[in-house]
Amino acid sequence: MGDKVSAKQAMIKAGVPCVPGSEGELPDSPVEIRRIAKAVGYPVIIKAAGGGGGRGMRVVHTEAALINSVQMTKAEAQAAFGNPAVYMEKFLQNPRHVEIQILADKHRNAVYLGERDCSMQRRHQKIIEEAPAPGIPRKLIEKIGDRCTAACKKIGYRGAGTFEFLYENGEFYFIEMNTRVQVEHPVTELISGIDIVKTQIQVAAGEKLPFKQGDIVLRGHAIECRVNAEDPYTFVPSPGRIQLWHQPGGPGVRVDSHVYNNYFVPPNYDSMIGKIIVHGDTREQALARMRGALGETVVEGIKTNIPLHRELMVDAKFMAGGTNIHYLEEWLSHHKR
Ligand code: ADP
Repeated sequence: MGDKVSAKQAMIKAGVPCVPGSEGELPDSPVEIRRIAKAVGYPVIIKAAGGGGGRGMRVVHTEAALINSVQMTKAEAQAAFGNPAVYMEKFLQNPRHVEIQILADKHRNAVYLGERDCSMQRRHQKIIEEAPAPGIPRKLIEKIGDRCTAACKKIGYRGAGTFEFLYENGEFYFIEMNTRVQVEHPVTELISGIDIVKTQIQVAAGEKLPFKQGDIVLRGHAIECRVNAEDPYTFVPSPGRIQLWHQPGGPGVRVDSHVYNNYFVPPNYDSMIGKIIVHGDTREQALARMRGALGETVVEGIKTNIPLHRELMVDAKFMAGGTNIHYLEEWLSHHKR
């Protein structure tokens, strides 16, 4: 399931709806590639089978740019992931990123813990996640959640995992599975009361899942802001020594971070240095708690994206809920500094 091409093939077999695209890896023949793109319909997105972290993807709007883009994505995929295989999908215009958290044991039990909305992204990388996804009918979530657990049983999946979908016009389209615990798992932990990391270890040790689907009760609303060591508006990384680190607290506030005063953020890794997660009875209360938490946070010595999060938490469209995957980049282009 870690290979995106074979994951999609497995999901199609298991009856999970996917984004339309090439049947598998793209062939070498330019004639064939052009034929596939025509059938899928422009714009298309070329994606690396082994890609991750928002890298190894390229959007193509016209046939003139197609072959060159495929070749560049292949070369990048080989260099970054050691696997030159790429595939093609229709590039959806206004989707939201909605994903289903699952847990499965080796005794063929599987449950889903509701969904997360991870549409607030920059460079195809998530920076704010929340659960539940605003405005999506529970019936639709239940239907897709049941498909995901059925797929887990069918493929014999064991562990924690996430089925990622694009959601547009009331339809879910599978894009990939993350076969691990993700950065955004705390929002699900807060609304479900389930320790996902602990349960992952239990099922890895061969134990049975300690709960059934009917035992899972989701309560309230949770939001996570990823704290990155970077310029809030250009995303240029900002490694260095943290002179002062003061993190927020209080009811419904959780901070996951390894950082402390005088900690040195090395330049070699991903820029994320922590996560601020809040829980409230309603989305409004969660937003208010996040504003309070971001207001309390002090980081001196390096730049972080906290100023951006503070602005987004009072942005009318984000507050209304249901923004799509392009919203943050559009917002940034209107808020040039
Ligand atoms: P990664 O493994 O790098 O996270 P994904 O396949 O999960 O890659 O895609 C990351 C993001 O890229 C998605 O959340 C979405 O914003 C965008 N994306 C991926 N596929 C498509 C598509 N077919 N149409 C539009 N946007 C897409």
